[in-house]
Amino acid sequence: MANFNWNCPHCERAVTITDERLSNDRHTLGIENAEGRRSFVSRFFVCPNPDCKRFTLTATLCESTWQNGGERVGTAIQHWNLIPDSRAKNFPDYIPKAILDDYREACLIRDLSPKASATLSRRCLQGMIRDFWKVKPGRLVDEISAIQPHVDPLTWDAIEAVRKIGNIGAHMERDIDIIVDVDPNEANLLIELIETLMREWYINREERRARMGHLVAAAAAKKPPSQ
Ligand SMILES: [Zn+2]
Repeated sequence: MANFNWNCPHCERAVTITDERLSNDRHTLGIENAEGRRSFVSRFFVCPNPDCKRFTLTATLCESTWQNGGERVGTAIQHWNLIPDSRAKNFPDYIPKAILDDYREACLIRDLSPKASATLSRRCLQGMIRDFWKVKPGRLVDEISAIQPHVDPLTWDAIEAVRKIGNIGAHMERDIDIIVDVDPNEANLLIELIETLMREWYINREERRARMGHLVAAAAAKKPPSQ
């Protein structure tokens, strides 16, 4: 198999996976059955980042045919991310727990139930807007509009772009608990928006505080001793 670029879900680095870091195996169901011939492919990827070196394990169930004396693995029918079992990223715990819990659960069920995932994402987004910007609780669509004067234009463009997609827009105008149909790509866009906003808002604020605190402490250390 040729080398390919890949994002390690553990360290979140973009890395190149070469043959020696990929281990594949296949188990074929040759017994006649109602679904047809199937192959089950398991894959280990080992991250080449020396600070990570963790493995990722996936499994895929595929259509399969016996052709010209060899097994031909066809279209994937189902895919499982076994380790890690969710694509949720590790965010620092100074982000409120309720927000992180909704985010992690939205990631965990993204493929299984995009509409439930999107509903959790929407609640997570609302939680972030209320906690970080202290907006007056209302409909999510109004809360988003209320923060427009305060967020930077690039962040606003990202929010607007996601908000305008298909059912997500309609989703935000309704009551937070109403479940609206969305597809996995839409559910994923909402997750990506939440990840972006967690970095833009919480992580940036914390890093800024740390930098300023360091500067204040360094300046204080330079002060001549008081008489
Ligand atoms: Zn890694």
